[in-house]
Amino acid sequence: MTFRTVYKMGAVDEQLTGRIERQGGRDVWSPRLVRGIGPELSDRQKLACAFRILARDGFAENISGHITWQQAGDYRMLVNPWGLWWRELSASDICTVATDGQVLDGRWDVTPAIHIHTELHRRRPDARVVIHNHPYYVCLLAAVGRLPELVHQSGTAFVDDLRFVSEYDGEVDSPELGAALATQIGDASVVILANHGVIVTGPTLEEATFRGQGAGPPCRAGAARRRQRGRQPDLDLRRRRAADGRLQRGGRTARRRVADGARPLRRDAVWCL
Ligand SMILES: [Zn+2]
Repeated sequence: MTFRTVYKMGAVDEQLTGRIERQGGRDVWSPRLVRGIGPELSDRQKLACAFRILARDGFAENISGHITWQQAGDYRMLVNPWGLWWRELSASDICTVATDGQVLDGRWDVTPAIHIHTELHRRRPDARVVIHNHPYYVCLLAAVGRLPELVHQSGTAFVDDLRFVSEYDGEVDSPELGAALATQIGDASVVILANHGVIVTGPTLEEATFRGQGAGPPCRAGAARRRQRGRQPDLDLRRRRAADGRLQRGGRTARRRVADGARPLRRDAVWCL
């Protein structure tokens, strides 16, 4: 049999035709040898590098966003301070916080939005690193309420690993709200929050950082594809227009239901800092 992968609109289908001649995947497409960076880095140094790498790639919006890193079995987390740009972070800026957000070590303050992270760490053994920020192209998709269509091969890394969360209060500043958000996130590793940004998780700092970088091209391609469709209405838009027509014929209850569904989530300027 011959194993081949067929890329379709927004999905990847595997077809078996004849004898399997090559397997592909990570076993084939990984270098046998990689060059090290030279010096051994401390965890704080590694985390500072992750912030700068992602900031360089356009992942960070001004001083928003956070990365937390919690080792398995440890109640403490490393996190960036509140109020510094990702691109300027140094190892000495990294803070250590407890799961309740209390700063245990560090010279800066930490955002109350730390609870976006604490409950994911608590519920997901695989989520040792949690990254959150507002990359521009993710924000485009978050604004229209859509996951990116996976229209380029780089997006295949995220098949069945993307989720869109549309129901939450926005200000996730308590363990209870963090837990509710974590429930909606489930086991996904790349999550777009409606009218907001993205959450990326990973078992290691390296994998989470790479995954955060890797989510950029599929989101850019997905957002660009939506623009290429121009003025042709998609299915949901046609449905909305049909709903509008029914509303004009009466029914305050139906009007309120549609209005609730279309109402943007509250977007305070401070919720993610
Ligand atoms: Zn945010």
